[in-house]
Amino acid sequence: MKRKMFISGILVFVMLMGAPTTYAFVPTVVGESVQVDKTPFSYEHQEEWEFVSGKMQSPINIETSKVEDYLGDGLELNYDPIGTYVENNGHSIQVGLRGTAEIDDRDFTVTQLHFHAPSEHTLDGKHFPLEGHFVHQAQDGRIAVIGVMYTTGKENAAFQDILDAAKASTKGSKDVKIDELKVTRLLPKSRSYYHYLGSLTTPPLTENVEWYVLTESVPISKEQLKEFQRYYDHNNRDIQELNDRKVFKWD
Ligand SMILES: [Zn+2]
Repeated sequence: MKRKMFISGILVFVMLMGAPTTYAFVPTVVGESVQVDKTPFSYEHQEEWEFVSGKMQSPINIETSKVEDYLGDGLELNYDPIGTYVENNGHSIQVGLRGTAEIDDRDFTVTQLHFHAPSEHTLDGKHFPLEGHFVHQAQDGRIAVIGVMYTTGKENAAFQDILDAAKASTKGSKDVKIDELKVTRLLPKSRSYYHYLGSLTTPPLTENVEWYVLTESVPISKEQLKEFQRYYDHNNRDIQELNDRKVFKWD
């Protein structure tokens, strides 16, 4: 009953506003914590995950032939070369980050990076072995996540620093940090991205999260992938329906 009223309230609002552009009608996620929810959840029983809405969930499959040109701005990432903590939090290996980002002409602060194996997003139906999520928050609470796909190839020194720190840290504790982390080595050279509006991919699955999935991937070695998989080898949420959302591409 309450939910119905909420939805009709939104409809009235949309009608009053007229036809919104992608960004004209996007409530911000005020007060929502970007920290991982400590409630236990299982990747084996994703159907039990509860969420309020459900039309704008992540991850999605990106059909590269169907994307539209994005007229927004690029990504300017000014991350400090440090991992403020490395934590095996029970859902992923998470690294605390510090620094700022200018995303599509707005200021964000980077909070953390964590990984999913295999990738959560798919490109033309294809999973990558690993996906990194660089989580950002704006002052108004808005969340933007930059997704980076990793392929197997050359060893990645920065990823190794994270694996070594994870090995040294106690599960569920932020007791280890990385004094010098070359964060840029975890990012591709190109800042070209796919963009859409989605959600957090772990409970509470909050919507209106801005996603920027970089088009270029970054190599890590097979051994490094295996080492990560010893912690997590299927911590990826299932692909969600696109519904009437659009996916854009910026280069
Ligand atoms: Zn994630």
